[in-house]
Amino acid sequence: MNADGDRTPGFGVYLHWPFCAAKCPYCDFNSHVRHQPVDQPRFAAAFRREMATMRERTGPRTVTSIFLGGGTPSLMEPGTVGGLLDAVAEHWDVPDGIEVTLEANPSSVEADRFRGYRAAGVNRVSLGVQALNDRDLKFLGRRHNVAEALKAIELARSTFPRLSFDLIYARPGQDEAAWAAELEQAIDHAADHLSLYQLTIEDGTRFQLLHEAGKFVMPDADHAARLYEITHAVTEARGLPAYEISNHARPGAESRHNLVYWRYGEYVGVGPGAHGRFVQDGRRHVTFTEKMPEGWLDLVEAKGHGVTGGEILTRSEEADELLLMGLRLTEGIDLPRYEALSGRPLSGRRIMDLQDEGLVEPIGNTHLRATARGMIVLDAVVADLAR
Ligand code: SF4
Repeated sequence: MNADGDRTPGFGVYLHWPFCAAKCPYCDFNSHVRHQPVDQPRFAAAFRREMATMRERTGPRTVTSIFLGGGTPSLMEPGTVGGLLDAVAEHWDVPDGIEVTLEANPSSVEADRFRGYRAAGVNRVSLGVQALNDRDLKFLGRRHNVAEALKAIELARSTFPRLSFDLIYARPGQDEAAWAAELEQAIDHAADHLSLYQLTIEDGTRFQLLHEAGKFVMPDADHAARLYEITHAVTEARGLPAYEISNHARPGAESRHNLVYWRYGEYVGVGPGAHGRFVQDGRRHVTFTEKMPEGWLDLVEAKGHGVTGGEILTRSEEADELLLMGLRLTEGIDLPRYEALSGRPLSGRRIMDLQDEGLVEPIGNTHLRATARGMIVLDAVVADLAR
């Protein structure tokens, strides 16, 4: 639940800035390196145009959160960020004080830019710290060291009301004591929110090639599970319990934008490779846009949007997605909402079987959630319930 007690799923706006200074070897996001300066005014104009098209599709709506993700949005000039936020407010109703997050990399941080983002309306920063030890930062291909990360954290804390940062764990050679100590150190610096992801080897990444060539060994499943348990125990003890499988916050400091996804709310996605899911004419539409930045730009300039695909979901597909997203949350899923969408309740028999195995648990009569053990095998739990 948010600080204001609001559990409505919400309507978010996601803006994808697709450029990075370098490609990290583990990354499979839609991020691109350009050796020539990016024409920011031209991209900003295209964002504005695509927003106008999305606004025609969604109709008038009240925005509950805005998220500038990437890529590396902190490579944008503050004026570009300000222009994008103004454009959101021109197209939809944006109440004062809603959460406006910008992702930033410690290496692309400058005090002046941070002040500029704050003046433009950003009130929350999510920093890609990833590790608090220099050897692992190098292994992860990051362009910053620990000293720079800590400096960026301090600067963010003194500039923005809210701060989150990301760490990647289950790294090669990382033992339990080292991770627990690093996590304690992170919490000493964290303002109110941490995103803690296990390192995974994704298709098409440089890590996939290196891993297949035997250049490093990943922790086995048991070791990774123990690191996951440590993550939950340490954050819980320090007052930032998990509210989602990989996200931890002081109560009331949860990311409202990410809650839009997990509570199966609606969002528009604008920019290269952005995804959206919103209700149009009473049905939930999925959109995704051209991933290549210049290709997206050409499409938007030619026809007002870069949408290259999507679908209209059936009620039962919506119910499956609700299950998939909602069981990631500690608050669980709203069973009456599931039933209203799918036209049938979840199987009581299957719930009981999973409960007997210690993988799910009811919360009162209206909610069901995965237990800590269930979270580790969440895909299997979801598949079982959705059958
Ligand atoms: S900075 Fe982030 S988005 Fe860019 S390559 Fe690295 S992990 Fe991917």
